[in-house]
Amino acid sequence: MSVFFVIFGLKMRGRIGRDEAMALWEIQDMNTLSSMATQIRKSINGDSVFYNRNFHLEPSNVCIHRCKFCSYRRECDTETGAWTMNIQEIKDYCNEKYEPGMTEVHIVGSVHPGKDYTYYYSVIEAVREVLPSDVAIKAFSAVEIDDMSKSSEKSIQEILSDLKYRGVAALPGGGAEIFAPEIRKQICPDKANGDRWLEIHKTAHNIGMRSNATMLFGHIESRAHRIDHMIALRDLQDKTGGFDAFIPLLYKAANNPMSHLGEASFIEILKTFAISRVVLDNIPHIKSYWPMLGKKLCQLSLLYGADDIDGTINDSTKIYSMAGSGEKNPNMTAGDLERIAAGCGYKAVERDSFYNKVTKKL
Ligand code: SF4
Repeated sequence: MSVFFVIFGLKMRGRIGRDEAMALWEIQDMNTLSSMATQIRKSINGDSVFYNRNFHLEPSNVCIHRCKFCSYRRECDTETGAWTMNIQEIKDYCNEKYEPGMTEVHIVGSVHPGKDYTYYYSVIEAVREVLPSDVAIKAFSAVEIDDMSKSSEKSIQEILSDLKYRGVAALPGGGAEIFAPEIRKQICPDKANGDRWLEIHKTAHNIGMRSNATMLFGHIESRAHRIDHMIALRDLQDKTGGFDAFIPLLYKAANNPMSHLGEASFIEILKTFAISRVVLDNIPHIKSYWPMLGKKLCQLSLLYGADDIDGTINDSTKIYSMAGSGEKNPNMTAGDLERIAAGCGYKAVERDSFYNKVTKKL
């Protein structure tokens, strides 16, 4: 299928199918891809680039799973580089990282072999106790929720409802990786599969929780796997409307069993952003996560469909620095984020977790 027909199809129908999406990869002129993605992002988000003031909490990195792309996990608490916070440490950490004006704490970690759902419930209760009520708790990947369900014999809906009752406002998008079973079998065979991930997010949406969706790309998956992943998300979004943002996560190659693969090229990364903006016509935001991409590539991605650059972070996440990101101690001020947006001719808009505009307090 020619590029002409793809662009013509986009203009005429607004939604493209799998074959048309696959044809987009063949576009060699990056200006064409940039224009296509920019036209769509402007029709949805105008000239706005969204960011928030946030910090991350990663309660532990000791994990029962053995994802081959993971540089973060440790086998047990005594291994070098392992950590597991107790409830008092979680409270102390929140008090240390919280700064006035922050609107979100983002909580993901590992599936600790010695902790069941009661620990994760206590984490949320502790965070809710110490942080102001206007700080939204975005917590736990579908993988963590799947394991809470298994360790408790509670249904997914019960776990999600319990978490919501304790203060979780939304789910982050982690654990999606690539949905294709033949890829998951090789990179993360022992955790929640793609159908389970989708079921958990569908259940969250059905009980009124918003969520994000990720895709880990640039490892052993093909471009077709990426398109199929996006279409599965688009199909669920048609049913629930519960996804706020799609986050293409670049596989980082340091310190994990797949390091020999190296990393995707800048061109492949930017194509992935642009094509996701075109395919995911019903997900309002494409997020460019700067602690993973680095600040410069994050800014460039704004010219390829991204409209959200996440948050200030306040040096609170280790997941990507352990995997070789150039952002060793990720921290940006609101002014830094605003300058990234302005450099592309966009207007930075501070948002809360639900994309409501935050009015700056003087
Ligand atoms: S990616 Fe998550 S679930 Fe997989 S090993 Fe790492 S911490 Fe565990």
